[in-house]
Amino acid sequence: MTSYWCEQAIVGETVEHAVRIEESGGVIAAVVPEREPRDGDTVLSGLVLPGFANGHSHAFHRALRGRTHADGGTFWTWRDEMYRVAGRLDPDSYFELATAVFAEMVLAGYTVVGEFHYLHRRPDGFAYETATAMEDAVVAAAERAGIRLTLLDALYLAGGIGKELESSQSRFSDGSVADWVARRDAVQFGPLSRGGAAIHSVRAVHPHLFAAIRDASKSLPLHAHVSEQLAENEDSLAAYGATPTALLAAADVLGPGFTAVHGTHLTDDDIQLLGGSGTTVCFCPTTERDLADGIGRASALRQAGAALSLGSDQNAVIDPFEEIRGLEMDDRLASGRRGRFTPAQLLTAATAGGYSSLGWNGGRLEIGAVCDLVEIEMTTPRTAGAAVDQAWLAATSADVNTVVVGGVVRVRDGRHVLGDVGALLGEAIGRLNA
Ligand SMILES: [Zn+2]
Repeated sequence: MTSYWCEQAIVGETVEHAVRIEESGGVIAAVVPEREPRDGDTVLSGLVLPGFANGHSHAFHRALRGRTHADGGTFWTWRDEMYRVAGRLDPDSYFELATAVFAEMVLAGYTVVGEFHYLHRRPDGFAYETATAMEDAVVAAAERAGIRLTLLDALYLAGGIGKELESSQSRFSDGSVADWVARRDAVQFGPLSRGGAAIHSVRAVHPHLFAAIRDASKSLPLHAHVSEQLAENEDSLAAYGATPTALLAAADVLGPGFTAVHGTHLTDDDIQLLGGSGTTVCFCPTTERDLADGIGRASALRQAGAALSLGSDQNAVIDPFEEIRGLEMDDRLASGRRGRFTPAQLLTAATAGGYSSLGWNGGRLEIGAVCDLVEIEMTTPRTAGAAVDQAWLAATSADVNTVVVGGVVRVRDGRHVLGDVGALLGEAIGRLNA
């Protein structure tokens, strides 16, 4: 059992001063007013928030950060470079890289990650001797970095609508839904990790398989990339006469257990289908701007009834505050209006919305939720003078002082317990690019 005395904390939607949080078995056991800290309490003198959820990540894309800008290019040339990195990873180097990337996430205030994982096999397309070697590497990396993990194990069978896999994609494929389920369900998880499922996209999985995937994934969070690129919609309409969202709706995949990632290019009908079914839509603003995807219609989705979450996706940026600002500011630019979301709605998207989408009871400072906390300093050059109930619109990841995951302190005084995260990243990425 651990306990934390918070000078100020966001409990529900209100700012509480002098509040004590008790943890037992990794879960919050009490949240009570307490004027002074007690002996043994970890004192948190900044602003305490529920931990941030990174709803959508591909950890290995972090190796491309700061390396793809010189010659411009398109989404598709960026993807070629990403495939080059994907082709070089083995279980050992994947573990090394993912540990460093997950540690960077924890340092930035993320306490749970949905790792959308599709590097299943050897680069030649044959299974590893241990079929789950790559999945085991991701799980071990998350446990070591101290981040909660939902392994969104992705089905990937085609190289595009009506296209065979390219050789660079062969390690993504299990060959069939049955073989995907068998490998996926053999993965062993640790105390911080659990399983989830994903349809890579309409590009990579034929819609006639959607119903079987839904039936094989009933107890798991299910995610899919949806309408990130205009070309995906055009190809889907040409091949099937329907948008990706309409195809998912027709197979009864949409609903509270499903998360559509991106949703950048949606029709009005798509927005009604997603909202009416209570689907979560995961926006990844720093990636969508980096890849020039476009601006999704976040406030229209919320008004239609969709839940929202946020993700760092390709990890060109790992900073939950930047994703929060992206959600609001992109919608301002697209609409010409301010105040698209309240600060509380933005915080919910970054916390409870993501936890729910990833299958965890968390993202709230309340009894029964997992004990995942973030303390930000309110005296830095960025946060000094900010109102406490909207400080997440001013802060950056550099203002994160303490991070607790499952009742264990993972970051203290802005330092990860693993040590120098920059050095870990530099070594892992240096080896991949050598
Ligand atoms: Zn993605």
